[in-house]
Amino acid sequence: MSRLTDDLNDPQRAAVTHGTGPLLVLAGAGSGKTRVLTYRIAYLLANDKARDTEITAVTFTNKAALEMRERVENLLGQPLRGGFVGTFHRWSLEILRRDPEAAGLPRRFVIADTDEQRQMIKRELKKLGLDPKEHPPRALLGRISGLVNRGASQSSFANGSSDSQSELLATIWKGYEARKKAAGAVDFDDMLVLARDVLKSHAEIRSRIQDRARWLLVDEFQDTNALQMDLLELVLAGERNLTAVGDEDQSIYRWRGAEMDNILAFERHFPGSSVVKLEENYRSTAPILAASGALIAANQRRRGKTLFTSHEGGEDVRLYIGADERAEARWVADRFQELQRRHSLGEMAVLMRTNAQTRSFEEELTRRHMAHRVVGGLRFWQRAEVKDALAYLRLVIRADDTIAFERVVNVPTRGIGAATIDILRGHADHDGTTMVEAARRLPAELAPRARISLERFFQILDEARDKRAELDPGDLVGWLLEASGLLAMYDGDSEEKTARRENLQQLAAAVAEAAQRGQELEAFLDAIALLEEHDDDDAPEAITLMTLHAAKGLEFDVVELAGFEDGLLPHANSRDEPESLEEERRLAYVGMTRARRWLAMTVARSRFLFGTRVPTRPSRFLVDLPEDRYTDVSDTALPIPAAGLSEGGRTAGGLPRRPRPPARRAKKAAATVIDETGQGWRPGDRIRHGRFGTGVVLACQGTGPRLKLVVFFDRAGRKTLVPTIAKLERL
Ligand code: ATP
Ligand code: MG
Repeated sequence: MSRLTDDLNDPQRAAVTHGTGPLLVLAGAGSGKTRVLTYRIAYLLANDKARDTEITAVTFTNKAALEMRERVENLLGQPLRGGFVGTFHRWSLEILRRDPEAAGLPRRFVIADTDEQRQMIKRELKKLGLDPKEHPPRALLGRISGLVNRGASQSSFANGSSDSQSELLATIWKGYEARKKAAGAVDFDDMLVLARDVLKSHAEIRSRIQDRARWLLVDEFQDTNALQMDLLELVLAGERNLTAVGDEDQSIYRWRGAEMDNILAFERHFPGSSVVKLEENYRSTAPILAASGALIAANQRRRGKTLFTSHEGGEDVRLYIGADERAEARWVADRFQELQRRHSLGEMAVLMRTNAQTRSFEEELTRRHMAHRVVGGLRFWQRAEVKDALAYLRLVIRADDTIAFERVVNVPTRGIGAATIDILRGHADHDGTTMVEAARRLPAELAPRARISLERFFQILDEARDKRAELDPGDLVGWLLEASGLLAMYDGDSEEKTARRENLQQLAAAVAEAAQRGQELEAFLDAIALLEEHDDDDAPEAITLMTLHAAKGLEFDVVELAGFEDGLLPHANSRDEPESLEEERRLAYVGMTRARRWLAMTVARSRFLFGTRVPTRPSRFLVDLPEDRYTDVSDTALPIPAAGLSEGGRTAGGLPRRPRPPARRAKKAAATVIDETGQGWRPGDRIRHGRFGTGVVLACQGTGPRLKLVVFFDRAGRKTLVPTIAKLERL
């Protein structure tokens, strides 16, 4: 028993052994908040203060939940029987699955995934005679979700809408709700809303859930939103045993409706609550603590706290300014190679503001054969928008690339559906030609709209081929992205759209860069085909590449904070408004505080954006850091970056680079692999799994009975599965 309290400091112990009533543990990064939650669950159970079935612990991710459950079980030396450890969404879903009728849902209601949500919006737009290009479904769904997570409903919004814009949104939203209802479907946000409504209106269900959540524990409380707060308030009864842990300086999900006020005004929300502050940091060395502490001190909206460490010494925090993103990636890879003597690759991470930044790191690490994995997103070259753009490029180079043709002939949507494809395939089979060739001939039985669309599609490709002579490759890609309408698909300023646009820009940048190195477009596409093949996702010891948002709660020995530049951190979308700027500073703080032993921030003095090299400036957050908090290790003789100029030489002292893989003829598609039952699988396949939902196959390993698929699920993330056992359905 004493084990449960011995390895804790005094305030941690006070929190773990706290009696009844609401408790807030408010503390900075690495001070043991998550540890307190875990120990508290074990303590309550071991001392018979709680039964297993009275524990409800809410974590931010499914992965964090798994870890917490494991740790509790280790501490107890026995499994946790019953009790809930999981995310708010899982919690809500369990409530709904048990009593669907109470929520007005059919017994076997389904969960609509992003694609299905978009389809419903599209159909609604069609019904209303609206153009999805002018009213992109993604943007509409983003706005609806934002409203819902702030506590609005379709009817409350409709009543309050005064201008034509919001009236239109209210109409589309109404149709969307009707369609979900007709399909017996709920979306992700509905789960929270419906669970809340059920708890509100059904006393007996509420009372059962209240019993099950007699001890309610919430990690990362700073990122709860209005809906989640409603849920918590509804299930808190009797003793009101809520233990919330959080750090207002790590609130980074405002764009998803996170309400910092939930933690800043905790005592007002939960009268009679106790507050425990933890001040000893166990994670990081003194220099890391000093630098991150100085940074976050510049924020206004915080309760404020101090952190100290009893770790003496520690390596300086470093700042490296390189000429461009390649120099940045090289410098980082050099350091990681040196640090590999003391730390394993699994303890190293590159953290960044945007997904698009992963590209230069993926390339550099692949070149050096250093195992790495991209977390929380598909690898750059496998992202849908990048693959679409590559398919257009492939068609410019090889007019009869059928796979590329099938992929993008209807991207963006231009009314070329399955029926058209069937007709074309029939012609191709009959005439012994390719589908592209058949399409060029515009068979008479095609619907007029399909004919016009196909004609226009080929026009764009032909024009692109002509432009190859006059434009630089980077500009050609820029032109193609515009002309094809690919870029316009991501108009709007939601995080997701911005990220996708940035990815497309990164692609144009990569092509321009390759051209400057003297690589032809053909060779470039081949090199990418080879990159895709090189899948070390499953390496047990791999460097982690991830966004700052995904890194919350995690820790690594070695952390590299990439792109410490104005425009990235703070992000260009968020630097002009004080509140957003503070959130960006919190993001930087989250990043820096992931590091245990070694931390560096890097800056690329110029980046490619749309085929032109633009100069950048180091992050304004550097101003918050006194100069004695970091060591500048930048190259002294850096050339001043100029537009269109690429950095030539190698980083001084850098390790020699491995040669690039030789360009081979393109392998057009990954090979199909057959499973036990004879079903074929290949990377890129869309699939559905009973529990994890829909996803895309990233890689196939082995064959026959030993075949395993690495799948990236839209919601559950990356999993490795045996297709026959997991009963995967190909879509
Ligand atoms: P974050 O704000 O980043 O989520 P946190 O406050 O949740 O951080 P933890 O992840 O719980 O912090 O703890 C940080 C590290 O410090 C972990 O490796 C944890 O095991 C260790 N740690 C915490 N408390 C103690 C302690 N009393 N003795 C030894 N190690 C500790
Ligand atoms: Mg934590």
